[in-house]
Amino acid sequence: MDTRNRDLRDLRISVTDRCNFRCTYCMPRNVFNDKYQFLPHDEVLTFEEIVRLAKIFRGHGVEKIRLTGGEPLLRHGIERLVEMLARALPGVDLTLTTNGSALKAKARALKAAGLTRVTVSLDSMDDATFKAMNDADFPVAKVLEAIDMAAAEGLSPVKINMVVKRGVNDRHVVDMARYFKGSGNIVRFIEFMDVGATNGWKMDDVIPGAEVVKRIHEVFPCEPVDPNYSGEVARRWRYQDGAGEFGVISSVTEAFCGACTRVRLSTDGAIYTCLFARKGYDLKSMMRTGKSDEEIHNAIATIWLHRDDNYSEIRTAETAKQQKVEMSFIGG
Ligand code: SAM
Ligand code: SF4
Ligand code: SF4
Repeated sequence: MDTRNRDLRDLRISVTDRCNFRCTYCMPRNVFNDKYQFLPHDEVLTFEEIVRLAKIFRGHGVEKIRLTGGEPLLRHGIERLVEMLARALPGVDLTLTTNGSALKAKARALKAAGLTRVTVSLDSMDDATFKAMNDADFPVAKVLEAIDMAAAEGLSPVKINMVVKRGVNDRHVVDMARYFKGSGNIVRFIEFMDVGATNGWKMDDVIPGAEVVKRIHEVFPCEPVDPNYSGEVARRWRYQDGAGEFGVISSVTEAFCGACTRVRLSTDGAIYTCLFARKGYDLKSMMRTGKSDEEIHNAIATIWLHRDDNYSEIRTAETAKQQKVEMSFIGG
């Protein structure tokens, strides 16, 4: 356990720092432009290195692995990585978060490779709003097709992540709830966060999760549901008419650091013990200089034992401006 009595249970692996979207809250185009230096190929962990580290993390008690990025489906041969992880770590809950742009074509292969479920990001049902947010002219219909395909292939229930930003897409919260109500898939409304140092975050832009629930409840009466497991970050709500549930991730207004059991592995093989960390610990160099599994295991133990992160509990307007690692690099 770390200094706040938290176990290490979840591992998020960023398999690429690249993305074909330029979501304004994550990879704004004015920063992630032609001049932006993405990682060179030899700095990126190989599949073999990822699997090796995942096994070591498993030895520390990790039960869930999420592949993310950047856009994980842009990583060439991602199905092969899923297969390697599923084979090396039987019983692990293996999931992936994607913008959905390449999911329709890959859903079947990902399921066959051993992926358990998938989360798809979609910020609005309205094309103009969605395109303004992804800044890549990507239409809503294609993401919906990908969600349907993933569900049909058994990567279900599909979770749909919507980042809610005041004045940008908050008027579409109820539309989103309406569309997925009764579908068997689960929308999760996420508070806009001050990740990285480039997205111009302001507290005024955050729609508190409680407000999201209130707006939905006015149209579709709902009630809280017990968490699936302790430490679940999404608060669950169910529709009183029995048409399923949605989740609210209030990372800003109701911080859940006390139950945060996550560690993040960046595309270039460093670990970060918090989404808002300012520095990581380089494990790739340990692997590439011939350190044994045991030495890496012990290094991770030391890092975790000293972990005291609780950024969301102590966030201020000042901390929001500090230099932090970009989310596309360590994985959302
Ligand atoms: N590209 C994939 C995607 O968009 O699903 C995976 C990586 S993305 C960084 C993971 C999740 O983080 C997405 O659901 C995205 O909406 C969310 N995210 C990114 N920036 C965020 C921010 N500033 N606040 C809240 N959530 C954010
Ligand atoms: Fe790309 Fe996902 Fe970030 Fe959007 S949220 S820019 S899709 S990594
Ligand atoms: Fe975990 Fe850091 Fe988020 Fe708190 S702020 S929940 S410690 S990742």
